[in-house]
Amino acid sequence: MCKEIRTRVAPSPTGDPHVGTAYIALFNLAMAKRNGGSFLLRIEDTDQTRTTADSEKQIFDTLNWLELGWDEGPDVGGNYGPYRQSERFDLYGKYAEELVEKGEAYYCFCTRDRLDKLRERQKAMKKAPGYDGHCRSLSKEEVAAKLEAGEEYVIRLKMPYDGETVIKDILRGDIVFENDKIDDQILIKGDGFPTYHLANVVDDHLMGITHVIRAEEWIASTPKHIQMYKAFGWDMPQFIHMPLLRNADRTKISKRKNPVSLNYYYEEGYIKEGMVNFLGLMGYSMGDNKEIFSLTEFIESFDITRVSLGGPIFDLEKLGWVNNQHMRMKDLKELTELSKRFFVARGFVSEDADEKEMKTLEKVVEILRETATTMKKLAELSDIYYVDDFKLPEVTEDMSNKAKKPIQRLHNAIKGEDEVKAIKCFVEKLELAPEELTVEEAKDILNDTLDTMGTGPGKVFMPLRAVITGRGKGAELYNVISIIGKARTLARIKNMNEQYKMY
Ligand code: GLU
Repeated sequence: MCKEIRTRVAPSPTGDPHVGTAYIALFNLAMAKRNGGSFLLRIEDTDQTRTTADSEKQIFDTLNWLELGWDEGPDVGGNYGPYRQSERFDLYGKYAEELVEKGEAYYCFCTRDRLDKLRERQKAMKKAPGYDGHCRSLSKEEVAAKLEAGEEYVIRLKMPYDGETVIKDILRGDIVFENDKIDDQILIKGDGFPTYHLANVVDDHLMGITHVIRAEEWIASTPKHIQMYKAFGWDMPQFIHMPLLRNADRTKISKRKNPVSLNYYYEEGYIKEGMVNFLGLMGYSMGDNKEIFSLTEFIESFDITRVSLGGPIFDLEKLGWVNNQHMRMKDLKELTELSKRFFVARGFVSEDADEKEMKTLEKVVEILRETATTMKKLAELSDIYYVDDFKLPEVTEDMSNKAKKPIQRLHNAIKGEDEVKAIKCFVEKLELAPEELTVEEAKDILNDTLDTMGTGPGKVFMPLRAVITGRGKGAELYNVISIIGKARTLARIKNMNEQYKMY
């Protein structure tokens, strides 16, 4: 029988939760789910100086937001726990000792001072820095004496001095490393804590991980890991190194050039479907040029060998497009609920909005989601529906003529004789209408005004747009009127008349 496929994402809880963590989680999740296996979350908090509880919580929250859920993990448990490395510290020492016993690792008592001098010498000789194996040949007795004397030590892996280590990467084929260029990796640090390398290998083994899918940046670590598997006599997992996410200039994704925190994307109002779809596009193609898909579709058609290695660009414009597609496909009520926080933040909707308020919001969202790329943008584009007290924009000296023109036109539109008549005519008709107006009813009143005036539409709709929205372009007037209702439409016109003395 085939072994159950088990994959994991193993973030270190330092700093903000990184988009790369979600990206790697997604591919591990898909690999496990596509093959009926298990996906687990392991917290790699061996670096206690940089670990924070808050950062761990944010990893949980953001991966849960994206619904990249795990079958086993620190919060849900499982048969291979604990899933937080800080709760497994006792274990790693024992495994390091096992390698020492086998002659595959050794105690190293070199002082910081000696190591610094060694590095300086190597630098002067233009040699690659690395440990020189000074303590490799200490006898058992020498080691015992130093331990007895309380000398500080680390435990190092004994890398072979000759031969090669080959990573058999599913995507990249054989990656060959010459052993003499690989350092004797520290497994247990001076403070007794394990390094990432030891804890990672021990845990992948004990947790039955069959496929290690991680970012390209770990390739240099993998030969050390392979040597450890060999030294322990353990079966090796399959290795898959995903292409790095890149900034637009193709450098490794960095916060200086691209937001990398998942919190940022949550706060900007990307929806989980858009985010996951976009991450799925990173280095992967679904075939048939299909760019828009759900997590379920992604998993159903997942094939790890379809990952391409050309560094995927984390293109925010593309993300916006993908997100917009998903906002348009999403259940309107759900999207409205999700968007609410952004409207509350702008003071447009109350925290405890009643049904009527939510219904209005739903209409606003329905219209604006056609173009908005995020939920935050929905709220930013919605002033026209929520701000009643506005002025017309003014020209300023530093504006180009091109920029001045539409503003001047807007001011002229509420000064012309015909135009002012059209506004008055519209007001008279609107006053007779019911308070709540459907889009059709609003359209009728506008067309009625046009008929009565008998002028061109420019002389009717330009001034009405100016007094009802304060802008020359944008939302359909009938949508605005129907959403804000009769009373607010009239109030807006009254307010404009008070400011600009139109009649
Ligand atoms: N803790 C490592 C990280 O932060 C895990 C790398 C791996 O998957 O082996 O990405």
